[in-house]
Amino acid sequence: MCGIVGYVGHRPALDVVLDGLRRLEYRGYDSAGVAVLTGADGLAVERRAGRLANLEARLDEVGREAFAGTTGMGHTRWATHGPPVDRNSHPHRDGRGRVAVVHNGIIENFAALRRELEGAGVEFSSDTDTETVAHLVARAYDGVDGGDTEGDLPASLRAVCRRLDGAFTLVVTHVDEPDRIVAARRSSPLVVGIGSGEMFLASDVAAFIEHTREAVELGQDQVVTITRDGYEVTDLHGEPSRVRAFTVDWDLSAAEKGGHEYFMLKEIEEQPEALANTLRGHFVDGRIVLDEQRLTDQDLRDVDKVFVVACGTAYHSAMVAKYAIEHWCRLPVEVELASEFRYRDPVLDRDTLVVAVSQSGETADTLEAVRHARGQKARVLAVCNTNGAQIPRESDAVLYTHAGPEIGVASTKTFLAQIAANYLVGLALAQARGTKYPDEVAREFNELAAMPSAVRQVLGTVETARRVAASLADAKAVLFLGRHVGYPVALEGALKLKELAYMHAEGFAAGELKHGPIALIEEELPVVVVMPSPKGRAVLHAKLVSNISEIQARGARTIVIAEEGDETVRPFADSLIEVPAVPTLLQPLVSTVPLQVLAAEIARARGYDVDKPRNLAKSVTVE
Ligand code: GLU
Repeated sequence: MCGIVGYVGHRPALDVVLDGLRRLEYRGYDSAGVAVLTGADGLAVERRAGRLANLEARLDEVGREAFAGTTGMGHTRWATHGPPVDRNSHPHRDGRGRVAVVHNGIIENFAALRRELEGAGVEFSSDTDTETVAHLVARAYDGVDGGDTEGDLPASLRAVCRRLDGAFTLVVTHVDEPDRIVAARRSSPLVVGIGSGEMFLASDVAAFIEHTREAVELGQDQVVTITRDGYEVTDLHGEPSRVRAFTVDWDLSAAEKGGHEYFMLKEIEEQPEALANTLRGHFVDGRIVLDEQRLTDQDLRDVDKVFVVACGTAYHSAMVAKYAIEHWCRLPVEVELASEFRYRDPVLDRDTLVVAVSQSGETADTLEAVRHARGQKARVLAVCNTNGAQIPRESDAVLYTHAGPEIGVASTKTFLAQIAANYLVGLALAQARGTKYPDEVAREFNELAAMPSAVRQVLGTVETARRVAASLADAKAVLFLGRHVGYPVALEGALKLKELAYMHAEGFAAGELKHGPIALIEEELPVVVVMPSPKGRAVLHAKLVSNISEIQARGARTIVIAEEGDETVRPFADSLIEVPAVPTLLQPLVSTVPLQVLAAEIARARGYDVDKPRNLAKSVTVE
């Protein structure tokens, strides 16, 4: 994934593009680059490996006056083809430096195209898949290979796109066309921002929200041309196409740190609001309603099996969902890693419901799982945080987690929002199938609706988690244990620590400990235990207390997340972090929060960038 910005207007393009890239840096930070059309045959390009700051330093060195112009574009890269070095940074140009291209995604048939171009004498200067597009567009524009695209930039891009396999957002400029930019998309995001006397292109509205809130979302295989006065959209054959216009309903401050040292902390604190927004509007006249439903109640009644497919943190939300959906709907639920799903032979038919959970809605593994499921006639319901993204577009029903933009690469508020949304899916199924009476559905919903205030309460106690974090900063490894819905929470706690603090961390189902992992226990090894409620789950609680005493007896250091007033566990806890008492199924919503704080604070104590962990990108748009 990467961030793309394009601008045609009346302001200095370089400033607008750099500001936009700053807001999109969360999408990738392997390199950054800009191109500005400087009039009279001029195309100024600069690009640098690493963070945007490297590019800015370089621009200061060469002098920003060389970039005077009001048409430009920029890119922040998350490398897929070729290492993150200067020569692979975008924009890429054709041999004569007349065309510049930025790209998000992967051109799957680039090797064949490159061979063809090299056969025709074209020299390549990078290892990327993207560069093929620069050469192909230049040739189409120059009419080298015949056809009727000569001198016509939109037609050239359309012709090239028709030859491409894979996923792309492409933005293209040509020195002969200083007043317009052309862009296309397939399975990668692209929005147009509509200003007055200026137009923007971006992967995400955050890039232009300080200038306009009016936007248009490009559809699959559409090509857009922007000038300062307007935009024109066609399909890949030049036929005018319809697009969806919308007004952005969040402001710039939502995309900024709001006074916090890092975005992740801000996002941890936004969790009560994210939960409330996710639930808002989904219980109307005593019934659960989804955002988009192209399925009938009869379709939901016919469901005889559910798969929940997801990756990373979303996968842990899927694991939590299994407990609720099986319990409420009496349906078998399988939880699958999206990257594995289509490579075995899952048993799917039209009575299978596949719930696809993805924050970005563009996760490639999940998207392919969705396509596989639909190919087998299964129904697909998307749970996602990005309006109009590819996964919801290709699904039969959608439930958006209205958690707002999440900039921190490690998911926090979207995890809690996903759990809530998955629960709404479970309740919608139970309601349609009659496995819960309406008053029971209402009661479950009301319990969910009380969670924002429970999470707010946990946030009031994060100081303890901070203190514990300080004492763990030098640990070599940390284990996490949980049972029932506490098990996915343990996995999530371990994942957060790996992602942020680069520490070896493992989550286990506590009952499995004695079947192997207990061999890992040694003096002073920190073990975080997520306790179930002593009242709600008395039997499990007692078993976990035994597990803790076993590891404590072997010298481990125990850090226990337990319900307020849980006196039984206190003697076994070297550190105790208390969370409010909530119904069992909702416990992950409170017990995850201290684990998020723990991971972030350990990362900070170790001197790492909490918002941008190494080697990761916010959403993974490659398989
Ligand atoms: N495939 C392109 C590259 O590796 C674009 C990757 C991206 O989306 O940033 O350069």
